[in-house]
Amino acid sequence: MSSHTSRKGNINDLNTEVIYKGICINCGACVAFCPEYLTFEDGEVKQTARCNEYVGECYEFCPRSFCAPMEAEKQLFGEKRVDPALGYYKEIVTAKIKDAKIASQAGDDVITALLLFALSKKKIDSAVIARSAEKGPNMPKKLVATTAKEITAKADSKYIGGPFITGIGEAIRSGKEKIAFAGVPCQIQAIRNIQTSPNFKVGADRVVLVIGQFCAMGKFPVEKGEKYGRRDGCKVCYDFAAELADISAGSIGSEKGWTTLIMRSDAGKELVDEAVKAGAIEIKKLDDVSKIIKTATNKKQKNFENINEVAEMLKVLNFVMEPSDLKLFLV
Ligand code: SF4
Ligand code: SF4
Ligand code: SF4
Repeated sequence: MSSHTSRKGNINDLNTEVIYKGICINCGACVAFCPEYLTFEDGEVKQTARCNEYVGECYEFCPRSFCAPMEAEKQLFGEKRVDPALGYYKEIVTAKIKDAKIASQAGDDVITALLLFALSKKKIDSAVIARSAEKGPNMPKKLVATTAKEITAKADSKYIGGPFITGIGEAIRSGKEKIAFAGVPCQIQAIRNIQTSPNFKVGADRVVLVIGQFCAMGKFPVEKGEKYGRRDGCKVCYDFAAELADISAGSIGSEKGWTTLIMRSDAGKELVDEAVKAGAIEIKKLDDVSKIIKTATNKKQKNFENINEVAEMLKVLNFVMEPSDLKLFLV
């Protein structure tokens, strides 16, 4: 991936372009690698000391300061998207847990089953996942799980928004070599930003497996009576199908009790194929993907209106226009 000057910035740029603009989605990528200057307070990013750096990881890793899905696809998968709504993929199937022991641990959660299988085959040595039963804006907590018992620990909701990228920082600092992550699309955009960063190398190549949960609306822990809510930042989110994951998963498109799996990378397809061969899961080809495409398209269309509202004028070479006018300009 080529280096972009537009990708460079510091904490002041992050504040101006993301946090004060209300598009932060609380992923934790900025805090994860700068705990000396940044923390979370009441669920929001807070600077704890004056920083005079000209450029920093906080800005470069943030998926809301910089997101280049096409370039990331090319780098991760070797090709750009095959479908405008779903991104790049090799195969889409519907899956169910087959192994009785895994089913007793994971219930019907195929993502957990794949993590358990990967751990048992030593393809991963840890998994950064969300686990908690407590309320409050900082909940649930992320967990760097290293055992099957930790991966299957009970949770109110396993795949929700929250600052779980801090778990990636912890896993790297504690010397984990083969880290998995399971989460929502915006968190995965953050991981890919970290991995493809031209200016900062923090060991994120040790994240070897990324599984994404479909996310239509966003689901965050909140206070004031309701257990979960949406963040303002979700209104400008284009990604339903976790387009940059190795494997994306969700119920849409599958019959009850089955899970749709979108295999994108070689590593993702390899893991699913091996899990099938070993009898951990069973899969069937999914011929009708129209429901997934429709849901992803609806989210993009609805949220692009919101993106247009907050976006600056667009500059392509010397041409400057409102983002919403781009379609009028193209022949
Ligand atoms: S030290 Fe770097 S990463 Fe930390 S706040 Fe300053 S610019 Fe951001
Ligand atoms: S979106 Fe993530 S990286 Fe960006 S400011 Fe918010 S918490 Fe930090
Ligand atoms: S809609 Fe989902 S993927 Fe998008 S920002 Fe919100 S939680 Fe993240």
